[in-house]
Amino acid sequence: MCEFCHKHGEGQKWYLRAENYSDDLLSDLKRRKFIADFFSGAEEHRRRKTNVRTPQPMPWFVRSVLRPYIVSRQKKVHFGQVLPIEDVEKVFGFVGNIVRLPCYCRYINLGTEQRFCYGISMAPQEGEMFKIIKEIDMAYLTGPDTSGLEELTKEEALENFRQYEKEGLCHTVWTFVAPFIGGICNCDRSDCGSMQATVTEGIPSMFRAEYVAEVNPELCNGCRQCMRVCQFGAIGYSAANKKIFTDPLRCYGCGICRASCTKDAIQLHDRASVPVAANLW
Ligand code: SF4
Ligand code: SF4
Repeated sequence: MCEFCHKHGEGQKWYLRAENYSDDLLSDLKRRKFIADFFSGAEEHRRRKTNVRTPQPMPWFVRSVLRPYIVSRQKKVHFGQVLPIEDVEKVFGFVGNIVRLPCYCRYINLGTEQRFCYGISMAPQEGEMFKIIKEIDMAYLTGPDTSGLEELTKEEALENFRQYEKEGLCHTVWTFVAPFIGGICNCDRSDCGSMQATVTEGIPSMFRAEYVAEVNPELCNGCRQCMRVCQFGAIGYSAANKKIFTDPLRCYGCGICRASCTKDAIQLHDRASVPVAANLW
């Protein structure tokens, strides 16, 4: 299990622990301020850095000195983990409220409202999280009119997630000052700042999933549809065997490759059961 499971999960996956979504955690004033600052900072962030895909040159020695500090701070405030759709379904099973929000990263990158992020709360109706959001400058979210925050049923939200899988989007769960969890997003490397920092720049701001993918060569017909959607370059193709293979050292365990496989040839296994990847986060 990842570091957060040990710290915040009490023996289970940290994002499956209902207490970590609780409105009680939002009585912490520092956490409330972080959330308000986070969302109200989007416009400024966009002005300063119009495209997070633009490489930010940083000498290696500066990067190596700053890296531990940045990662440690991110783990305290805003850190994520990849999770497969069956775990998203478990989370939707116990939260009380799901609201679809415009994606922060895509707003910064593209300057448009793209609703790929889902705020979740234990409250049966709008919880404290959404009250905080509605109180701040909503320019990035929906402008002054907050009525556009879309409430969805669990079934509607899950159906959207299934559609995202067909487009190759990877599900990720996020803290807003750990251990409080405020949302689940649907990310790709083109526009997700955290995914770019983690995978491209080597400065992690999310853990890999608790799983690793493996292909059953008996079922694989070598069509390579799964290779198109893997965001992590973890699938290769053997011209000799006419089948794909997965690389456990690169696999983030998102499970998205399964959605494009008509042969049901890819399964996820517990990361702990795959020795070479067991301690790879
Ligand atoms: S999509 Fe399925 S059948 Fe096609 S190459 Fe990938 S694992 Fe094999
Ligand atoms: S091979 Fe791993 S990282 Fe790539 S899509 Fe499949 S589960 Fe995700």
